[in-house]
Amino acid sequence: MIIFKKSADLSEYLLQQQASGRTVGFVPTMGALHAGHTSLIALSKADGALTVCSVFVNPTQFNDKNDLEKYPVSTDADIELLLQAGCDVLFLPPVSEVYPGGEDNAATFDFGYLDTVLEGANRPGHFRGVGQVMARLLSIVAPQRLYMGQKDYQQCMIVRRLLQLTGNTAELIICPIVREPDGLAMSSRNRRLTEPQRVLAAILYQCLVSVQAQQENGSFARVHKECNDLMKAKGIEPEYVSLARAADLSLLTDYSPGTPTVALIAARVGSIRLIDNMLL
Ligand code: AMP
Repeated sequence: MIIFKKSADLSEYLLQQQASGRTVGFVPTMGALHAGHTSLIALSKADGALTVCSVFVNPTQFNDKNDLEKYPVSTDADIELLLQAGCDVLFLPPVSEVYPGGEDNAATFDFGYLDTVLEGANRPGHFRGVGQVMARLLSIVAPQRLYMGQKDYQQCMIVRRLLQLTGNTAELIICPIVREPDGLAMSSRNRRLTEPQRVLAAILYQCLVSVQAQQENGSFARVHKECNDLMKAKGIEPEYVSLARAADLSLLTDYSPGTPTVALIAARVGSIRLIDNMLL
């Protein structure tokens, strides 16, 4: 695995590789890597791509600076995991390589409705930062394929919109959510949970399973209340349990048979904010 810290060096190397016929697959991450991340690398490799992973904790997407300060960093372990996963290239830039003109001067994009609901509503400025970092990383790496996790469903939709807005023809491949045995979606944030919190965190998945199970003849209002009551009873602070059209995240007030639908959840377990979702 070759490690690059400078954007220009990585771009030059990848241009050479593409000139000699290689397809580039890109897996952007914020590090603290786990099996969810390596599943994206495995999919890129299975597609035959020269696989580039970036590890960059993007300061501009943290609306909560405390969250940024506490974001787990484990660079040595990440490198070890990437070697085991057979990653070809690691991009490990300092902030100055991603935002050479300063964080405040990076290009921004208008994501319209998508930035006003769910994560957009609960984390103001978050998707602005996601747009900034993704636009920059995509210009450095210029991949043919981009691998991202359904775990961050709304982020995938934002990036799809970014590709449209910038006329970027990279193919976005949305990869399945990798879960722990009890259903908890793998996340870098999980390692900040205490053992009792870690056990409770599986309730988010259980809520999604109930939302799915009741779609045939249930009322969403009822399961919504059950989920909120259960979380509160266990000391979890729900932010939202929502149904939305999978295609564009328009919110639904009830099950809509025949409409591809996604159930999405966000909640705080202690101070740790977790998200998950499930296609119904
Ligand atoms: P992050 O490091 O959290 O920014 O995540 C980097 C990429 O890995 C994003 O595309 C995430 O959606 C994806 N990812 C994170 N957790 C999982 C998971 N449990 N399963 C699949 N993909 C994931």
